[in-house]
Amino acid sequence: MSKTAVGSDVEAYCTKCKIVLAHSVVAMEGQKPRRVRCNTCNGEHNFRATKPVAKTAAKKTTKTAKKTTTKRTRQSWEEVMQEAAAKPHKQYSMSGSFREGDWIEHAPFGLGCVQTFVAPGKITVRFADATRLLVCNRT
Ligand SMILES: [Zn+2]
Repeated sequence: MSKTAVGSDVEAYCTKCKIVLAHSVVAMEGQKPRRVRCNTCNGEHNFRATKPVAKTAAKKTTKTAKKTTTKRTRQSWEEVMQEAAAKPHKQYSMSGSFREGDWIEHAPFGLGCVQTFVAPGKITVRFADATRLLVCNRT
């Protein structure tokens, strides 16, 4: 076996051709080539014995791990109602005062959850079938 030195041919991974090809050693580091020149494209680069694969493989595993952690963000109305049944709820009246998140009982519409205050004395309430605008704090 001949000793590797500056000017001798070595097999190395070419960063431009993207395959392992014959290279000429340009610079040495101890017993190993440090910089090489590709015999095919004449490109000079750091010596790499094989194609670097570890990095791309690691990337793939993190991607698949992310996919499995899909969160459920919205509850179905049935689930919301089950939770609400355990909570206290107020009888709805136009003179009543309510807060966001309050549960109210409305004669024709049934049980609903106060969503937001759209204006002083006006609230949006989510019922099983639809979200409705209701009046409150009416004196
Ligand atoms: Zn090359």
